[in-house]
Amino acid sequence: MSTSPNPSANLKNIRPYQSARSLCKGDEYIFMDAGEIPESFATSSTSFKLPSVLCSYPDPSADQLRDQIADFYDLDQSNLIITSGIDECIDLTIKAFVQPDGSICITPPTFPLYKFAAEVQGRKVIEDSIDSAQDDIVFLCSPNNPTGTVIPLEQIAEIADQFNGLVVVDEAYGEFLDVQNLLSAISLIQKGYKNILVYRTFSKAYAAAGIRVGYGIAAAGVIEQLMKAKLPYNVNSLSQSIACALWQDRQRMQERVLKLIKLSEELVNGLREQGCKVIDSITHFCTFWLPEGVDANMVYEKLRDDFRILVRPAGFINGREALRVSTGDAEQNRFFLEAISSFINKEDSHDSHDSDVLDRFNL
Ligand code: PMP
Repeated sequence: MSTSPNPSANLKNIRPYQSARSLCKGDEYIFMDAGEIPESFATSSTSFKLPSVLCSYPDPSADQLRDQIADFYDLDQSNLIITSGIDECIDLTIKAFVQPDGSICITPPTFPLYKFAAEVQGRKVIEDSIDSAQDDIVFLCSPNNPTGTVIPLEQIAEIADQFNGLVVVDEAYGEFLDVQNLLSAISLIQKGYKNILVYRTFSKAYAAAGIRVGYGIAAAGVIEQLMKAKLPYNVNSLSQSIACALWQDRQRMQERVLKLIKLSEELVNGLREQGCKVIDSITHFCTFWLPEGVDANMVYEKLRDDFRILVRPAGFINGREALRVSTGDAEQNRFFLEAISSFINKEDSHDSHDSDVLDRFNL
């Protein structure tokens, strides 16, 4: 079974930062300890009054939201950290768990921020092969950005069993697993894995990227180290309240996700009908290759300049330039597919076979 990952040597003698607001919470106190200005002095004019929740510092550990999420998963508050999006959680994880001379392992093609955050912190980045002796964290992304593919849970468990460091499973799109009854890596944490950290966010399925709220779920020992590395007031009060409200209205989120899956299936079928190779995705975006002979860069630029449609270059995958597209609404998808069809010579569009691609992504 998994063992707790070692925190970075930098954290060894660090105690969690004691901000005034982390010492005592509750409406019954008069807070004269945090250097705040009394609410009666707050900005107020005929047109604008600052809501009282914004006059004082936010709850540093976002306990209300932590409790709601922990209850849902039958976990404890100590199994959760709330961050300013997953982005912040990635940064904290590297700070807390990569040794000064250590490295992270990533498995491209994947979300580029793991590499970026590690490099900004001066840490080494290893691609593809996990080296248990050297790597402190392996970043898995499931469903993966940009491919939308899922890593089977048994494979994640096997990696966690064999790896001495921390296994991060980025489930930014995890709600797409949930609504399709696929198991999340959160179930492994519920089973007692000590070295798995799962990320989730309000940016995707909840359609609330602007509030910048994400969370990490793990054994208490892992969360304790992340809490040590975090700055005191990382998530503002408004965002905490909005996230609590969104959490309570998960049914709407699930309906949205199901609709997006349907639209995305239509988009994928449309691309396949035009001879594109599309990686099977369980999310609202997919990665595809245009038929042989159609240049992805040219299509990217023409979509942008002639049709005002932006897609994302997904880089070289299996030796060919791929594009990633996220579903729009039905009309936007139709417009996009029409645009794509204008680049494809129907004579050549069939059978753009590529055996590697077929093998790796089950096409
Ligand atoms: N992880 C993945 C896989 C993502 O695709 C993204 C954003 N595109 C993030 C994390 C960042 O999420 P957040 O908005 O919560 O910072």
